[in-house]
Amino acid sequence: MSTALSLTDAQIERYSRQILLPEIGGRGQARLLAAHVVLAGAGEAATAAAVLLGRAGVGALDLLAHGGSLPELGPDCRLRRLALTDAATVVPEVDVLVDLAGDGELTATLGRRAQAAGRPLVVGVLADARAVVATLVGRPCVACLPRAVLALEGRGASGRFAAPAALAAGALAASETLAALLFPPSQGRLHTLACGDGIFAAEPLPPTTGCSVCGGG
Ligand SMILES: [Zn+2]
Repeated sequence: MSTALSLTDAQIERYSRQILLPEIGGRGQARLLAAHVVLAGAGEAATAAAVLLGRAGVGALDLLAHGGSLPELGPDCRLRRLALTDAATVVPEVDVLVDLAGDGELTATLGRRAQAAGRPLVVGVLADARAVVATLVGRPCVACLPRAVLALEGRGASGRFAAPAALAAGALAASETLAALLFPPSQGRLHTLACGDGIFAAEPLPPTTGCSVCGGG
């Protein structure tokens, strides 16, 4: 990711609210404009994340297995659509991978690609009224993520909090992606939002040992 590019007057105007934030600034905005993100998923969470990332000024966004229509993402976001079969070849030029597809097999594939390239993987899953987003950096990887997290996969959202949980998962995943682009994290972490109970929790993911995929131990 190059930060050498400079902002045009139109870009300074477009992202002025973000540039004013001291933790982003002009240099951070240039990083976002130079960034390349792959986002997997077809549901509401993936659409919400795509809109937030595009409007924040992420320069290249590859949607994997999305297929649906999207609102306007912003003039600086170059959108590409990839087929599910492209998952096996994504990276190494990608800066962050995001998986909101809720497909265990796809998550495992993207996890191996991210691990091999040393890139962060942000995985969001929905279970009933809960949104869970794991940001994986090195160890643990998808293969050795605690079982309690993986057990949520594939269940999907249901009930009256299904839509808020999906939007929350998308927003959380987008926020974690922007954070990973601006301030590369040194350790994985887990965010859990229980919409029905109004409980939000964030916790670090301690490095694992003995994993054959990420080399822990
Ligand atoms: Zn691992």
